[in-house]
Amino acid sequence: MEENQLKTVKKGRFAPSPTGRMHLGNVYTALISWLSAKKGGGKWLLRIEDLDPQRSKTEHALMIEDDLHWLGLDWDEGGTEERGDRGPYSQSHRSGIYASYLDRLRATGLTYPCFCTRADILSTQAPHQSDGRVIYGGRCRPASLPCLIPEPGRTHSTRLFIPDEETVFTDMVYGEQRIHLARECGDFVVQRSDGAWAYQLAVVVDDALMGVTEVVRGNDLLLSAAQQLYLYRLLDLEAPTFAHLPLICNSEGRRLSKRDASLSMAELRKHYSAEYITGYTAFLAGLLPAAMPCRPDELIELFDWNKIQPRDSICINDKFI
Ligand code: GLU
Repeated sequence: MEENQLKTVKKGRFAPSPTGRMHLGNVYTALISWLSAKKGGGKWLLRIEDLDPQRSKTEHALMIEDDLHWLGLDWDEGGTEERGDRGPYSQSHRSGIYASYLDRLRATGLTYPCFCTRADILSTQAPHQSDGRVIYGGRCRPASLPCLIPEPGRTHSTRLFIPDEETVFTDMVYGEQRIHLARECGDFVVQRSDGAWAYQLAVVVDDALMGVTEVVRGNDLLLSAAQQLYLYRLLDLEAPTFAHLPLICNSEGRRLSKRDASLSMAELRKHYSAEYITGYTAFLAGLLPAAMPCRPDELIELFDWNKIQPRDSICINDKFI
């Protein structure tokens, strides 16, 4: 079946990296994505994004699944038990698929081998990058296109040429986005020099082949949406709609990470019921006027994208336990 014929039903997805226990920010993303899918009578898919072999662990994936079950956020497709016919649903098992899509990208003449080390990239990156984002300075970029440089045996990453133009799209929460990829991120890597697949390529291929119609995730990935739309275009795949969510931050204004123990599901489950966590998360999202205990299915009718405010972040008191 062609990728573009797969999208007959609305399908949302949750795509955690199994690098630790879920925290309240992950619960928030999972809940909103689940509610949006269910409100539209659609399906919800769970994909395990275990591309990083050093940090990903099956036991974390199993804990994420246990936390989702506990909350009442059940998935129709995917997961470690491989439910559904568009698997495998763990990225570590999809290498051959990514390789064939990299070949398609190569055929566009827009990829090139890059021999730069991280130190080279840092020393040649475009100036004024004060927010920690690294923009590739273009040292290995071919002088003209199409790029016909044969990929030599010597270790290299594969980088994608970014045109000097704006990507325009509408985010369901943040509205119209105009992102100039060449200025804001530069040519990006699609396969690393150690052979590992880059998140951008894997996520586009997976969402397209798995028939995902709606991507809901944290606003730290807004820029990635523009990179991904470029890949959808080059690979001739149908893009999903995007909805990015304000990040949940602790009282110091720092976004929650899997290293923050206090708001991890391990702690939360010791102190609160699933209904309390769900109600509190729905309250943070603006779906409930107060943190009233409830189950996810009781929120489906209340769910409305207009209630999700396009704030940068939602800061909470991490001592609320
Ligand atoms: N795997 C990513 C994460 O856990 C999510 C990527 C996405 O939703 O596109 O942060």
